[in-house]
Amino acid sequence: MPLIYLDNAATTKILPEVKEAMLPFLELEYGNPSAKYYELAISAKKAVEEARDKVASLVGVEKAEVVFTSGATESNNFIIKGVAHFYKKKGKHLITSKTEHASVLNTFKYLESDGYTVTYLDVDENGLVNPEDLKVKITDQTILVSIQWVNGELGSINNIDALSDICNNKKVFFHTDATQAIGKIEINLDELSGVNFLSISAHKFHGPKGVGAAIIRHDEDGVPRKLTPLLHGGEHESGYRSGTLAVHNIVGLGKASEICIQAIKDYDNAVRVKEERLIRYLENIFGNKITFRNIHPKVPGIISSVISGMNNQILLKKLSSQFAASSGSVCSFSSPSYVLKSIGCSDHEIRETIRFSVNQYSDI
Ligand code: PMP
Repeated sequence: MPLIYLDNAATTKILPEVKEAMLPFLELEYGNPSAKYYELAISAKKAVEEARDKVASLVGVEKAEVVFTSGATESNNFIIKGVAHFYKKKGKHLITSKTEHASVLNTFKYLESDGYTVTYLDVDENGLVNPEDLKVKITDQTILVSIQWVNGELGSINNIDALSDICNNKKVFFHTDATQAIGKIEINLDELSGVNFLSISAHKFHGPKGVGAAIIRHDEDGVPRKLTPLLHGGEHESGYRSGTLAVHNIVGLGKASEICIQAIKDYDNAVRVKEERLIRYLENIFGNKITFRNIHPKVPGIISSVISGMNNQILLKKLSSQFAASSGSVCSFSSPSYVLKSIGCSDHEIRETIRFSVNQYSDI
């Protein structure tokens, strides 16, 4: 039996159209988009700007608000450290939640060691931050709130509308790590003026690995927001992020974004069907030993399951030729899931948990 890939929250397969769009930039189109006058450079620059347009359309922002990065880990680091450093005279208090991805949590931990105070908000049994809780935790020293849109282990969807609104009213910057949301829910920042910063990763929606974007929204007067760069150098990306652009990867991100804008329209219906098939498939294998966490609201496609009497690592290894899945975020493998702990799971339950993730392209 062929292996069934059930780990789309860890990464997705690159679509053939994405690969085709990238190939010329790994072959003949090798120009540096920062160079001038000659055709190879001009065509590389044109390809980068077309990709920027597509990423901007994907999330409903202006082209000039898209900064290409190496992925969401970098985008999260850049935005959080960049805001913290640039606005530290306004205050040194930051707020996030306990279930953020490691690239957010460890960035805040680093900032704590650098003299900042961080509040880590609790989440409820669905993995959600309570907007009222956020409201009371904001002080006159708070400069940034960072809360993920969708959780990668549970699929839970935070109320970004309410959370960003609170920050907007209190004049506090709001960042959201949208890595697990892109491709699963429609995002239009044009209608969410409280979201100032957003992180994107291409490989979570059928683009290549090693590329993403940081969305840096302009202020109310249309002026680009200032924040300290993570990478200093030749002032690429309007000075936000230096380094020669990875044109092939950026083109791949652009193509994946273009496809995603269309595909997202059917995501819910298509993936609900796949999710039901997945549940039947798993019940066939595990019978009444398997139960599924009832998370609400959640994106279709991510399922957190408990398989009683089975250690998740042993099981995943044993069945690794049958299906590919994970016990939780693959970026925090070494220790038991802090996400599951935060929603009140016992260590025992955590050891029996497996996350399965499918999408509209899954063969199930
Ligand atoms: N944030 C979330 C919610 C993620 O799921 C991931 C990837 N596991 C990242 C950030 C990091 O993304 P990247 O792999 O592009 O660095």
